[in-house]
Amino acid sequence: MTTVCDYLIIGGGSAGAVVARRLADKTPGRIILLEAGRSDEGDPAATDLRQLDAQTSDYDWGFRAAPLAGAPALLKYARAKLLGGCANHNDCAFIRPPDSDFDAWEQQGASGWNAAAMAPYWQRVADSITIETAPCHPASRSFIEAGLELGLPEVDFGRAVTQGVGLFPLNAKGALRQSSSIAYLHPLAALPRHLEVWTQCMALRLILEHGRAVGAVTTRGQILARRAVVLACGAIQTPQLMMVSGLGPGAELRGQGIEVIADLAHVGRHLRDHVAAPVVWETHEEIRGWDICPFEAAMMLQLEPEAPAPDILFHFGLRVREKYADRARLATQGPAVKASPNVTRARSEGEIRLSGPAMTDPPVINLNYFSDRSDLDLLLRAMRFTRRIGQTRAMQRLCSREIHPGPAVESDADWTDYVRSVCETVYHPCATAAIGKVVTPDLRVMGIDGLFIADASVFASLITVNINAAVMMTAERAADFILAA
Ligand SMILES: Cc1cc2nc3c(=O)[nH]c(=O)nc-3n(C[C@H](O)[C@H](O)[C@H](O)COP(=O)(O)OP(=O)(O)OC[C@H]3O[C@@H](n4cnc5c(N)ncnc54)[C@H](O)[C@@H]3O)c2cc1C
Repeated sequence: MTTVCDYLIIGGGSAGAVVARRLADKTPGRIILLEAGRSDEGDPAATDLRQLDAQTSDYDWGFRAAPLAGAPALLKYARAKLLGGCANHNDCAFIRPPDSDFDAWEQQGASGWNAAAMAPYWQRVADSITIETAPCHPASRSFIEAGLELGLPEVDFGRAVTQGVGLFPLNAKGALRQSSSIAYLHPLAALPRHLEVWTQCMALRLILEHGRAVGAVTTRGQILARRAVVLACGAIQTPQLMMVSGLGPGAELRGQGIEVIADLAHVGRHLRDHVAAPVVWETHEEIRGWDICPFEAAMMLQLEPEAPAPDILFHFGLRVREKYADRARLATQGPAVKASPNVTRARSEGEIRLSGPAMTDPPVINLNYFSDRSDLDLLLRAMRFTRRIGQTRAMQRLCSREIHPGPAVESDADWTDYVRSVCETVYHPCATAAIGKVVTPDLRVMGIDGLFIADASVFASLITVNINAAVMMTAERAADFILAA
């Protein structure tokens, strides 16, 4: 079966839903938004932030990061498989990136992507969704008090990204997520007729003819697009879809038996991600009854005085969630809380590779954490600061003892071993098809007509804060470029 439309958007996550809505608002052409996973509409597990734990394994692609030297093996690398994408299974921390992040993009070759150019796109996102401050459980308040004891100011991170401690802004209206599918597309039945959302339909490869993207082969037949094909499968699967379609590093594609249509050396390379490691404390009492989500409090530290913005961001967790497959690396017996600092502009670069020539072959996710030594150095300094948090009066009223890594870990060598064995992703992969390397500043894939990328893949580099706000801003801008083409 062949279907013909004007715009085909592949991937109905944070970016895809924004682009679909904006194109539908501005053009009468037929638009198809393709999503491999199920619909989120009417599904409390997907839309109610309090019910995240009700999501079963089939809401996720089930990827594992590749084993790497000196870091945990089999790290679960969550990637949502449903309309709304990762913003329907994330924790809804929603922070506007500091101006220095976008200004840095421009300096790194993303011409025209600076803070002034991005400000209107923040406004569009902020006008489209509800952002509320996280509630504050007494245990989160203890963490904030601990920061104050250590001399940090209390900060409203909805207004400023500076050193301090405070509550996360959430893209949520009460417990209702404000993911882009919910805020931009729901109710699906009321969408304009020229915008069709096809869920449970996976793109298997792009159709490329004479240097132009003309559509995709999908699990529901061929879809041809007269105007443009837009990739929004996220920073893991957008480069995978390109590579299985013949767009990528030539030698790697030939090694998989894939015909090379365009030798694009940077596709899947330069993967950036926030890497964190937790300190875990046993609490005097069970922590119960948080309102919406167990990550309410945040802390930012600027360890390098000349850094453009904080270089460490902490998530304070009211529970300890296991991320390492079936291995209990951070086992707790009693009730526990944790604080996880991450390196905000981590410089280490990983990569996405193919394990086989088909979209159904799981991608190889090589995180390559700490390949840039400065990331490890920053994280070690943050870990020592985290221990000091645990020693404050405020935290001692809450916690009975540090259980991970525990007081026996003191030397740099011990801390390094610990960090390497428990480091974890904050699930912010980006930059795998970066502006200036794979796409032009107006987000066209270099050397291929009619093909745009709108998702986290195009980031020029990692940003200081949780990335979903920046993904939505990028998608808003992508829509403008696609409409202008
Ligand atoms: C567990 C977790 C917690 C997070 N917490 C936060 C947070 O609190 N705050 C924050 O700012 N960020 C958070 N993030 C990150 C943020 O949610 C993502 O960076 C953002 O949603 C990425 O948007 P995207 O559009 O690039 O990709 P996605 O949202 O991943 O969308 C990609 C979509 O494409 C679909 N797809 C993939 N391949 C195909 C195909 N071949 N055919 C059709 N469809 C396909 C996928 O199913 C998915 O729905 C978190 C992420 C995770 C995983």
